Amino acid sequence: MIVLNLVKSSLLVACRSATNQYRHNITSNLRLTTVRLFSSNGESYEYDLVVIGGGSGGLACAKEAVQFGAKVAVLDFVKPTPLGTKWGLGGTCVNVGCIPKKLMHQASLLGEAIHDSQAYGWEIEKPENVKINWTKLTESVQNHIKSVNWVTRVDLRDKKVEYINGLGYFKDPHNVHVVLKNKTERTLNTKYVVIACGGRPNYPDIPGAVEFGITSDDIFSLEREPGKTLVVGAGYIGLECAGFLKGIGYDVSVLVRSIILRGFDQQMAELVKASMAEKGVEFQVGAKPLSVEKQDNGKLLVKWAFNDNPSDVKQDVVDTILFAIGRHALVEDMQLDRAGIKVINGKIDVDVNSKTNVDNIYAVGDVLYKKPELTPVAINAGRIIARHLFNNSKEVMDYEDVATTVFSPLEYGSVGLSEENAISRHGEDNIEVYHAYYKPTEFFVPQRSVRYCYLKAVALREGDQKILGMHFLGPAAGEIIQGFAAALKSGITMKILKNTVGIHPTVAEEFTRLLITKRSGVDPTPATCCS
Ligand code: FAD
Ligand code: NAP
Repeated sequence: MIVLNLVKSSLLVACRSATNQYRHNITSNLRLTTVRLFSSNGESYEYDLVVIGGGSGGLACAKEAVQFGAKVAVLDFVKPTPLGTKWGLGGTCVNVGCIPKKLMHQASLLGEAIHDSQAYGWEIEKPENVKINWTKLTESVQNHIKSVNWVTRVDLRDKKVEYINGLGYFKDPHNVHVVLKNKTERTLNTKYVVIACGGRPNYPDIPGAVEFGITSDDIFSLEREPGKTLVVGAGYIGLECAGFLKGIGYDVSVLVRSIILRGFDQQMAELVKASMAEKGVEFQVGAKPLSVEKQDNGKLLVKWAFNDNPSDVKQDVVDTILFAIGRHALVEDMQLDRAGIKVINGKIDVDVNSKTNVDNIYAVGDVLYKKPELTPVAINAGRIIARHLFNNSKEVMDYEDVATTVFSPLEYGSVGLSEENAISRHGEDNIEVYHAYYKPTEFFVPQRSVRYCYLKAVALREGDQKILGMHFLGPAAGEIIQGFAAALKSGITMKILKNTVGIHPTVAEEFTRLLITKRSGVDPTPATCCS
């Protein structure tokens, strides 16, 4: 008690000589210290919360928790890729995910716009000389990322979240050991832990993959031009990378093991593929990579087999092979067994409150078993955990009807059920699908292809026809679907959609004009559409 009073009085002395802002900070710390030392149930911890992982979910959780007076530390550590690429605070989305991807997608769209602009009267002296400068592009992208890294650090400091640049692992459920960047070590004793370690890309188990291949972790800062590129994998990342690389001028092929965009509406997925093929991306379907060899001239000889048939092998020589074959959660370094945390297929399962099988340990984001791997999902869930732990909130994370967009050259946005999932849940007779092809006004002048501009709403057939899923392929799909996602969450029906007056001329208004059902057999193609 005497020691406590001494601590309190020395802090108060410090307060008197401090600036107003500083005084406020010390007073808050004093309040926290007091709360901790007088804890009534005998529990006493150094921290209220330690978050392992400073990405989308972890940072959101930490910043929310301090609002309620919790003492919080966030650990973040990035192991370099086999090529040596590494990055700063902020996790996947900021450094090697959503943000650089969206910027490169934008670079690709601008290339198209430069081309279109001539039809609109812009005079470009030597159009054939218009080309991307890869070094400038990566520099600009990386400069933006570095500024976000910096702002994130400042934000943590301002909010009094302790940032520790180190790799964390469990000693037991309440003690997290950290190996800091400078190789010193410390143990953090904490009441709660949130695991927000995210994931990293997989490499296939074939000769040369790790030695000569790259992944999305490398592409956004690659020091040389990618040149002719073979992308392996036809999920989000494969299609997005293939799309922007083609858009900025490189030859691109995609190896598709089975289907395009597994889990998405397959009619839409096939249209995405066709729209990319129309722009020159080559697809090798049923193809699995076999080997990568480096030739004397530095180029890569890649071999792949079709349909697991060893006598049906094809090969090509490329400058870059990019693996986008899925990701694994970063659980292996964390010694989860010491805390008693169960792992299912390399991921962590949680209850409705995001709690693991261990009472004081929660998990969020890409590490979760069978949850969408998306930044806003991780952020929402992270904030909800903080409110649950430190503000008695009963709110639970809603993983249903999460909207998403694939930033392929012609974007595909969707929310709710795919047509096939709606049919399997409700039966074909109970589902009505409204669909249409449409023609964006701005595509006419430069005579851009409108062949794959398509949308559909999947609804229940009865009554006012509650909408179960909305799918849009076309420009700005992410922007459009975001608004309709709120409508779908609010229970929008086809009756409401038809009663909604459109904004003309936009592409989003096409949803308000959906009249043709698939069942009717009427051709949804406008007369002059696809000629
Ligand atoms: P992360 O953001 O991955 O953060 C985890 C952090 O924890 C990392 O920094 C990691 O190094 C660190 N860490 C791991 N283990 C430890 C440890 N033991 N100790 C200390 N630190 C540790 N989502 C979208 O919503 N929209 C998009 O457009 C989009 N595009 C994407 C594009 C690409 C190429 C990729 C790869 C992903 C994309 N995503 C997108 C997905 C999105 O990036 C992730 O869903 C999101 O980042 C997950 O957040 P998280 O907090 O779970 O983990
Ligand atoms: P993914 O969506 O799971 O796709 C992986 C692809 O690789 C699939 O086409 C898969 O084929 C193929 N594949 C798997 N193993 C293979 C192998 N050994 N050889 C050849 N092909 C193989 O994974 P991802 O594209 O890496 O993306 C990971 C997650 O990041 C996504 O789930 C998503 O949530 C998130 N993300 C989101 C966005 C966005 O919001 N715009 C963008 C990028 C990433 P099969 O279908 O045959 O299995």
